[in-house]
Amino acid sequence: MTYNVSVCCLIGDPIEHTVSPIIHNTAFQALGLNYYYLAFKVKKDMLKKAIEGIRALNVKGLNVTIPHKIEVLKYLDEVDEVAEKIGAVNTILNDNGILKGYNTDGEGALMAIKKRGFDLKDRVVVIVGAGGAAKAIAYYIALEKPNKITILNRTPENAAKLAKSLRRETKVYCEAKILDTIQLEETLMDADLLINCTPLGMYPNIEKTPVPKNCLRKNMVIMDIVYNPLQTRLLKDATEVGCKTINGLDMLVNQAALSFKIWTGVEAPLEVMRKAALEVLEKERS
Ligand code: NAP
Repeated sequence: MTYNVSVCCLIGDPIEHTVSPIIHNTAFQALGLNYYYLAFKVKKDMLKKAIEGIRALNVKGLNVTIPHKIEVLKYLDEVDEVAEKIGAVNTILNDNGILKGYNTDGEGALMAIKKRGFDLKDRVVVIVGAGGAAKAIAYYIALEKPNKITILNRTPENAAKLAKSLRRETKVYCEAKILDTIQLEETLMDADLLINCTPLGMYPNIEKTPVPKNCLRKNMVIMDIVYNPLQTRLLKDATEVGCKTINGLDMLVNQAALSFKIWTGVEAPLEVMRKAALEVLEKERS
């Protein structure tokens, strides 16, 4: 590494669970790129200052995570068309002082779902959560023409906003509900795929789950985008009920690879990144 290293970083809070620095630094090294990736804990009320700092220090690329993906839009110079439609950004490129926002979460999740051979066309999809990741994933799922998408969220207004924007942008049939046991029981009766897009179950609160076990049925596919731990309470319950499961690892690696390409212009070494993530996640939980 030389003094003129290109710095990339993650901003979010919490970030203690993140494995992004390991994934990206391993990939930069593998390809001999003079880049380095750091993670910064940035509190909600410090986001504006953090973005000013990015500009001042000429940081090359950013990942943005919980809770800043939506708020960060207002500090950017340009936003890619898809990220604009989604209304959330998880990747920023600093192109000679112009900060441009992108979203790689939705495409990363869709790649993970397709890899498991799940065809979304005409399926009934339930998404728990209505934050940055939920918006991106719901948008990409809607493009696959499912029969229906239902969004359940702790704050029903946020679910309603997301459902409205999806109907407007994609013309898919989409409804919103509050996240509680009664609504879950009713909604999951005819669901084919459930995706958890809340942090419930994420380290260190690993006993939490967004969906009580008795609401799960064995013919459903359950995806949890929480990746630390890899086997969340939700996925353990789903396995016990007999559901197929998809953990957050593939989405994590896919979205990272798409961000990597945006910053470097180079195709990411997907398998190198996957191995690095898996190694650290397995080690942490053993
Ligand atoms: P976000 O924008 O802050 O959204 C969080 C969502 O979770 C909101 O809908 C929020 O509901 C809900 N929520 C938060 N705490 C809750 C609680 N205690 N009970 C019920 N609902 C709660 O965050 P995000 O960026 O979408 O990330 C969400 C999770 O996905 C995080 O754990 C993150 O690490 C993970 N993630 C994984 C990947 C991957 O590649 N595998 C990628 C992106 C994100 P309200 O609207 O009521 O606040």
